[in-house]
Amino acid sequence: MHEIEQVDLNKQHGKPNMANYEEVYASFQWKQVKEELAGLPEGKGFNIAYEAVDHHANGIQETKVALRWIGKEGVNQEFTYHELKDQTNRFANVMQGLGIHKGDVVCTLTGRIPELYISALGTLKNGSIYCPLFSIYGPEPIYQRLSKGRVKILVTTKALYEKKISDLWNRLDDLRYVLLTDVTDHQSGDVRSFQRLMMEASSEFIIAETDPEDRALLHFTSGTTGMPKGVIHVHESALTHYITGKYVLDFQSDDVFWCTADPGWVTGTSYGILSPLMHGITNIVLEAEFDAELWYQTLEEQKITIWYTAPTAIRRLMRMNIDVRKKYDLSALGLIHSVGEPLNPEAVRWAEKTLGMPILDNWWQTETGGIMIANYPSMPVKPGSMGKPLPGIEAEILDYDENEVDLRFAKTGESGQLALKKGWPSMFRGYLDEEERYQKCFVGDWYLTGDLANRDEDGYFWFVGRADDIINTAGHMVGPFEVENVLIEHPAVAETAVIGKPDPIAGELVKAFVTLKDDYGPSEELSLELKGFARQRLGSAVAPKEIEFKDELPKTRSGKIMRRLLRDQESENLEKA
Ligand code: AMP
Repeated sequence: MHEIEQVDLNKQHGKPNMANYEEVYASFQWKQVKEELAGLPEGKGFNIAYEAVDHHANGIQETKVALRWIGKEGVNQEFTYHELKDQTNRFANVMQGLGIHKGDVVCTLTGRIPELYISALGTLKNGSIYCPLFSIYGPEPIYQRLSKGRVKILVTTKALYEKKISDLWNRLDDLRYVLLTDVTDHQSGDVRSFQRLMMEASSEFIIAETDPEDRALLHFTSGTTGMPKGVIHVHESALTHYITGKYVLDFQSDDVFWCTADPGWVTGTSYGILSPLMHGITNIVLEAEFDAELWYQTLEEQKITIWYTAPTAIRRLMRMNIDVRKKYDLSALGLIHSVGEPLNPEAVRWAEKTLGMPILDNWWQTETGGIMIANYPSMPVKPGSMGKPLPGIEAEILDYDENEVDLRFAKTGESGQLALKKGWPSMFRGYLDEEERYQKCFVGDWYLTGDLANRDEDGYFWFVGRADDIINTAGHMVGPFEVENVLIEHPAVAETAVIGKPDPIAGELVKAFVTLKDDYGPSEELSLELKGFARQRLGSAVAPKEIEFKDELPKTRSGKIMRRLLRDQESENLEKA
């Protein structure tokens, strides 16, 4: 049974926007959310970038800092809402000048740099589709995504271009231009300087007349079988970004917000860019990767009031044993939220003791477009639980068996597949070019999330695991098939199966079991070679960290490799150790 311990409400962040969860849930209507948003002037449709930028730039927030970027080299840059409007208008004009229009896909492959934020919002203003890519991907995942997304423009840096793109380009028929963020001159007709194009562009732009159902965002996510899926979201998804900013993250006008997610993942877009800007608050962007002291320093110096981070990062902070209260003044901090992986109850308690407040966990996925289940500031926290469904969202635990026709709802405390009643604004509208795969996600009125969970007697949801073989390593979903596909290309590999091995910090590590061809024998050298081979093609976030040689892999009678069995064996071995 779940613990009944309850942690005190957070008292440091003022009165929550949602004082009483049950009351708001009972009377909630999505159409009222739409009424809180501006819509394009003269009723000409609805555009996320207008809500996030121009709406504030044209009003009293004009001179407020929208984005404060803290660069790695000690150079900081600030953009007021007015400046962000100017820059994103320029980018939209650059797109027009390059012949990029509504429905075309524009992609960024960069770390956290200002150009990424400008490109994302400028793309939306132009009515084009924004697609972020994770900059530490290797060439293979990048190629898969750029070609599947039929990406026309890629914004990246010179180093990333030279290392990962230039050799791929002849295989990418749709890619027209690459814009380099860190060169001052155009390199060729199709490799252009971002800065120069921006300088020459006008800062006046009339936002494209987008319909709420027009495509806006394309995010790639991993599948268990087959290659990555292109998840499509429309402009209307902004309703979820907005309402979760209000009720879950609890944005209030003076907040200074920091989302630590990589901009290559969906959280980096929905909450690293859109949600805070829609609320007209100040969004902090730290370019550097994780570093415990730097993170605490950032919380202190930037006077962060709301912090959105992830369990792996929290576990790394816990391990550091830094006397935070003595060393740092975190008195501005009022709320800490977390997403992406199961958050251990110990982490919630550690935060209470060390940072003075519990961490509020929430759950969602690329397909849902925004937070769906959450712990709210006004609701008691049960450490280890993901919380309760967002107002406007119906969540159920289905006792789902694909061979049965009838849908059965699981009883309280019983585990089953977590499902959401379809129809919320940020529900994905499709997998790019894969209608059948999309339809398979639904039974009746319910969207099947692929996660296993249960619900307790108080209506709190508890994560149990994935219903499929997808690996969650440090909050990043890795499809085993994508990794296996690369390993099998190595001349020594006969068969391979890739699983998530339980890990105390990252949740899971990518591990590959490999059988070898006749002429090869297992050795430490070969293991290193295979790891390097995979890393070069897939990038370090996706490549296996561990290789185990086997004489045989377990298979079903029909010859399908049973990853699940390998995973269970791995967990048993760890328990014994
Ligand atoms: P992604 O689509 O990459 O954002 O990954 C979504 C998946 O991450 C979910 O389907 C879950 O398996 C996992 N996940 C997200 N949030 C949580 C959470 N709070 N607790 C446990 N797992 C989570």
